[in-house]
Amino acid sequence: MSKKTIKDVDIAGKRLFIRVDFNVPIKNGVIEDDTRIRGALPTIEYAIGKGAKVILASHLGRPLKDKKKADEKGRPYEAGKYSLRPVYEYLRGLRQFQSVAGNADAPAQISDDGTAVGKAEIKNDLVFFADDCVGPEVEQMANELKEGEVLLLENLRLHPEEEQNDEGFAKRLAELCDIYVNDAFGTAHRAHASTEGITHFVDTCVAGLLMEKELNFLGKALHDPERPFVAILGGAKVSDKIPVIESLIDRKVDKLLIGGAMAYTFFKANGLTVGKSLVEDAMMPQALEIEAKAKAAGVELLLPTDHQVVDSYEPLTSRKAIPVDFTNAGLVGLDIGPETVEIFKQALKGAKTIVWNGPMGMFEEKPFDQGTIAIAEAVSEATENGATSIVGGGDSVAAVNQAGLADKISHISTGGGATLEFLAGDELPGVAALDEK
Ligand code: ADP
Ligand code: MG
Repeated sequence: MSKKTIKDVDIAGKRLFIRVDFNVPIKNGVIEDDTRIRGALPTIEYAIGKGAKVILASHLGRPLKDKKKADEKGRPYEAGKYSLRPVYEYLRGLRQFQSVAGNADAPAQISDDGTAVGKAEIKNDLVFFADDCVGPEVEQMANELKEGEVLLLENLRLHPEEEQNDEGFAKRLAELCDIYVNDAFGTAHRAHASTEGITHFVDTCVAGLLMEKELNFLGKALHDPERPFVAILGGAKVSDKIPVIESLIDRKVDKLLIGGAMAYTFFKANGLTVGKSLVEDAMMPQALEIEAKAKAAGVELLLPTDHQVVDSYEPLTSRKAIPVDFTNAGLVGLDIGPETVEIFKQALKGAKTIVWNGPMGMFEEKPFDQGTIAIAEAVSEATENGATSIVGGGDSVAAVNQAGLADKISHISTGGGATLEFLAGDELPGVAALDEK
């Protein structure tokens, strides 16, 4: 990777501003999924281990947009929902962020007078929380941090200047630190004050360990993939994915498998009846263009040959698998069929690089998760046989987790939009802003 990382610079005793992605689902103060926090821990632990003073900053939800909406509709706005305080409580509870007085590992000794000595006392005194992310109080807290201590700042997006990439605000963030570290790949496609603006006012700007991992995996797939290289694309909308599909064709991916609702735009563009399946009429010309481009580039493009349909007036349980050209006007296609699963599985055999974005069907609704699960299993199998596999996209990652196969995939990308933009070949502003090696 051409970008400097936290390992390339001397961070001992320095104040580090680490932009993390702590945008986690929180309900009634309880963190429902801590995946993103766990993803940032290696960088934080590394920094602490090297004696840095760690300042953590993140966004959480869309407080200002939600407030505006609530005001317009005369609904109450729950300010508490947008506080990172629950994340602070979570971090405080982690053993690696607690100090221990006495020897934690040694058993307590009984002294002559019969009292226990040497018993470890665990103290939650290494992690602090600031009620804002800028201002004199925050500056004081940052300046008073000792080596190995952590200060979590309140939600960046409580300030409109964050998303506006306001220069003054970026400067105030920059004043908190000596070194800037970006470990939030998922927001790197946005030029915000904490992802881009700040880098103009800090001398040393580097990638964190999670960011490094993302750039290594995605960068290799994009620029130097081991072949055969197979891409699987699905999900709801062709329009979201056109730049990625084009980029993959330009890079001469060997096979391109297209499933999910996206396939129906291709079918309809080719004159097939798609019934009430999800179609983007406006995207039909682009679908034909993609087919032509793939053909010219020698990319094998595979579309489903059969699908799981229901009669739109009958319950979802009335599902049946039919060939795609048997679809009549009353039917809705909600998953790929068994024949397609076999064809896609064959196409994945022997692959050395696999990139997957977008589920093969409406996987949230059983049994229409079966096509997606079967493909997740095929990707896991190919990975066991030596392929490097990358899954990106919020729903695709959820589907792989739902199938219990996440640890059989080489890399689960933490970005949604950022992953797609990266795979489309775009330079992400939050990555471009980091120092070159
Ligand atoms: P990702 O978040 O992984 O990028 P998308 O957001 O593009 O994926 O697509 C996921 C959505 O596509 C899911 O909500 C899923 O239900 C929907 N979907 C996939 N196939 C179909 C289909 N045949 N009909 C309706 N919805 C579908
Ligand atoms: Mg999605």
